[in-house]
Amino acid sequence: MQINSSHKSPNFSGRNNTVIDTIIIHHTGGNDGAKTVKWFCMKDSSVSAHYVIDRDGTVYQLVPDNKSAWHAGKSWLPDAEIKSGSVNNRSIGIELVNKGDGQTIFPPEQMESLRELVIELKSKYPIAYVLGHKEVAPGRKDDPADNFDWSFVR
Ligand SMILES: [Zn+2]
Repeated sequence: MQINSSHKSPNFSGRNNTVIDTIIIHHTGGNDGAKTVKWFCMKDSSVSAHYVIDRDGTVYQLVPDNKSAWHAGKSWLPDAEIKSGSVNNRSIGIELVNKGDGQTIFPPEQMESLRELVIELKSKYPIAYVLGHKEVAPGRKDDPADNFDWSFVR
């Protein structure tokens, strides 16, 4: 699939050889993809994601897969025994450009790109979990919004 890699974020860490087995889906909280990409590429923001999928379906890669992007914050897998830490090391973060109010549609072009990207990631890594940010940071995060259609990625 076509991926735009012309924007790079400085906000990442090493993975310390952790196997990638998780994909975390986010919404950005705004409908302006260019603004999101710019923000994630600023050192001062201290946030990033591996991929941002714009509303027209354009896929940006800001952090290489083999690095740990700063997308999930304090988080844990739903079946984790210890409810603390972060899933960043083991996961790929995908941000969907969407206001996140539950009313703003996730356009078909965007969902098609997401479907393709997830299939590609599953072919490269032993992905065991495809989860929303709200599932790994319950009570703290609410993305992706309730109108996100999980049938595209699970
Ligand atoms: Zn999020």
